[in-house]
Amino acid sequence: MVDLLGQYDKIQKEIDSKILEVVKSAAYINGPEVHSFQKELETYLNVKHVIPCANGTDALQIAMMGLGLKPGDEVITADFTFAATVEVIALLHLTPVLVDVEKDTFNINIESLKKAITPKTKAIVPVHLFGQCANMEAVLEVAKEFNLFVIEDTAQAIGADYTFKDGSKKKAGTIGNVGTTSFFPSKNLGCYGDGGAIFTNDDELAHTLRGMVNHGMYKRYYHDVVGVNSRLDSIQAAVLRIKLPLLNSYCNTRRKAAEYYTKAFSATENITTPIISNFTTHVFHQYTIQVKNVDRNALHQHLLDNGIPNAIYYPVPLHSQKAYVDARYKEDDFNVTNELINTVLSLPMHTELDDEQLDFITSTVLNFLHK
Ligand SMILES: *Cc1c(COP(=O)(O)O)cnc(C)c1O
Repeated sequence: MVDLLGQYDKIQKEIDSKILEVVKSAAYINGPEVHSFQKELETYLNVKHVIPCANGTDALQIAMMGLGLKPGDEVITADFTFAATVEVIALLHLTPVLVDVEKDTFNINIESLKKAITPKTKAIVPVHLFGQCANMEAVLEVAKEFNLFVIEDTAQAIGADYTFKDGSKKKAGTIGNVGTTSFFPSKNLGCYGDGGAIFTNDDELAHTLRGMVNHGMYKRYYHDVVGVNSRLDSIQAAVLRIKLPLLNSYCNTRRKAAEYYTKAFSATENITTPIISNFTTHVFHQYTIQVKNVDRNALHQHLLDNGIPNAIYYPVPLHSQKAYVDARYKEDDFNVTNELINTVLSLPMHTELDDEQLDFITSTVLNFLHK
């Protein structure tokens, strides 16, 4: 699905010497590389505070801790996403409330979101799935009306731009009260291990979060709140400092591959290609098609048989996962997710796809449809 080595080849010299430099510096934790990366990401995102941490799941958990959410508070998120989003809600003894998504964008459905609000609702977690932003203007309106926090899960959409109705723009993850991301190697901005970050423009929240990632310490060995140990290490920060200036070009390369796919499938009624909302750019963490009148699982296998990696993101809706079943859910409330799990297929998407590979992938898909 991704070609991490191909990408590394192009920056190998710089990466190798930088990693060696960090090793020789012996500043492995909270070293200058981490601080510099934090500042550079703040500039890139145009956000006041970036708080680096150990991974994207921690980022979500710490964001929820920092907002002071309490056991029993309800947190609404999308049914169609990676489990990390709902996992941390449950782990903190908050009550996850899953809602359906939109068929065309895979992102949270605003009507379903409104229907799920109760007096206990305290926060909404829109997930910018596959690389494009959820309808944030609508999410913010709902949040304002019901006095809810907004936590953006930006693990799949770092670098995406959101345009408001008044023409102003913000980066994904800097729109709500707090945003989170992951630097897992296969994400759009990936390091060579685990990594994550939290973003916010709220000075007070940023201060709270900075202590929380470090055992709840605001002064060394004074623990004012219960915190966690969640750090981005210096080697990962050094890798990210080399890759951050390349992020926009990585996003453009992904967009070009997406355009190739979409053009190749345009004449095929059996395939719905990704639809991009007019308020967001798409950074194509995944290129996900929906098939119609096609045996999706057979197509999945056919591509594998031809040496083409491809994946079903996601095969089981979260509301049906054993860990997250809830008697309050009605199947009728998840019609879109229940359909998507049977029709979606994600094709190879990374920064190293060339026309020859794209031609092989698209013709293998089309040959299967027309045989
Ligand atoms: C990858 C991912 C996460 C978790 O990130 P990790 O760094 O793997 O913990 C959270 N949410 C979404 C939507 C993701 O894709």
